[in-house]
Amino acid sequence: MSSPPIAPPATIGILGGGQLGRMLALAAREMGYRIAVLDPDPECPTASIADQQVVAGYEDVGGALRLAALSDVVTYELEHVAAAVIDAVDAIVPVRPGRVPLLVTQDRIAERRFAEEHGAAVAPWREVRTTTDLERAAADLGLPLRVKATTGGYDGRSQVRVGTTDEIGRAIERLGRPSGEPYLAEAEMAFEMEVSTIVARGPDGASATYPLARNTHDDGILSESEAPAPVADEVADRAAALGERLAVAMGLIGTLTAELFLMRDGRLVVNELAPRVHNSGHWTIEGAATSQFEQHIRAICGLGLGSTAALAPTALVNLLGTGPARPARLEPQGLRRTLDDPAVHLHLYDKRRVFERRKMGHVTATGTSVEEALERARAAAAHLRWLEEPAEVPVGGGKEARR
Ligand code: ADP
Ligand code: MG
Repeated sequence: MSSPPIAPPATIGILGGGQLGRMLALAAREMGYRIAVLDPDPECPTASIADQQVVAGYEDVGGALRLAALSDVVTYELEHVAAAVIDAVDAIVPVRPGRVPLLVTQDRIAERRFAEEHGAAVAPWREVRTTTDLERAAADLGLPLRVKATTGGYDGRSQVRVGTTDEIGRAIERLGRPSGEPYLAEAEMAFEMEVSTIVARGPDGASATYPLARNTHDDGILSESEAPAPVADEVADRAAALGERLAVAMGLIGTLTAELFLMRDGRLVVNELAPRVHNSGHWTIEGAATSQFEQHIRAICGLGLGSTAALAPTALVNLLGTGPARPARLEPQGLRRTLDDPAVHLHLYDKRRVFERRKMGHVTATGTSVEEALERARAAAAHLRWLEEPAEVPVGGGKEARR
């Protein structure tokens, strides 16, 4: 017998207040839930959507206990939450997608082992701690290699590419972690395309998978996604089955994203697992019958899952910051031109400051084909610019100018 759902107006606690927390909170509020968020930044993107905020770091057990005391269920929007925090919360309220999904995915080596144990292909890899280890890995696996910090990396940070033997010597130093820390060194894969599968799973074991998305990265950071991905049905089915199998193996309740490399021979290689909603699923807000955010809330609250059907070919283009760090204000003419196309939707995350390559928002477009949708989303995104900071505060300048 399944337990009763967590019903609105229950409070959902979110560990992490970035854009994923923000969009989860928006979806949850539509359904009548209340939101408590834990984040060290009182001006984080979720702050203005949440009913209550605990201002604390992701390692802060005391803060997490305060969040738990405010919440009926706790979820997380990032993997970099300390295990002690999860354990402390879990003793008070359910943590979903759960403890195991977090522990498996927050450490890249644990993630590789988990994938292999469950019959999923990964890039040939070695655990390395020293330059000597890395030389041995290069001899075994060949070059190029990708060397990644095992914890804490995201958006292509905390990893380096080793293309030639000359680059081996400095790779570990460049990653700059304390000496003796393990790294994952793995073969660079000559993939045909990158794709991701997102599955939601409820406490009763029911699951629903979204159409596969095709992802394009720019120097490790997601720049574009298109869905449904232009692949044979057979590939999409295999990717879906893989994601579902891994979700079951983790005992996950909520959302699991699997970033995959589709190889030229049709093999699917697991690159990264995330027990959460994902940037490559933002297209579902406009492009699918149920958004990944609503779906995650339905899953963690034990409500039925919604349809994952695509409504139209859809594409998203991320809006990455450019230039020096400064207050984030959009140039108004460009903003207007972005939305001149009626097929385009703008999502901004209310980040107070912009800087080079920061994820500030995204645009989504639908079309009659993914190519058309992508073209429209790209054209729309190209209009957006953040204003340069005024060189001088005008005399008697308003609040806005001084901030
Ligand atoms: P992050 O946590 O920063 O997303 P990933 O391991 O997913 O780290 O790497 C980011 C991107 O870098 C990937 O999406 C892919 O484009 C590229 N990349 C990472 N590892 C490999 C690899 N072994 N072979 C080829 N490309 C890779
Ligand atoms: Mg990744």
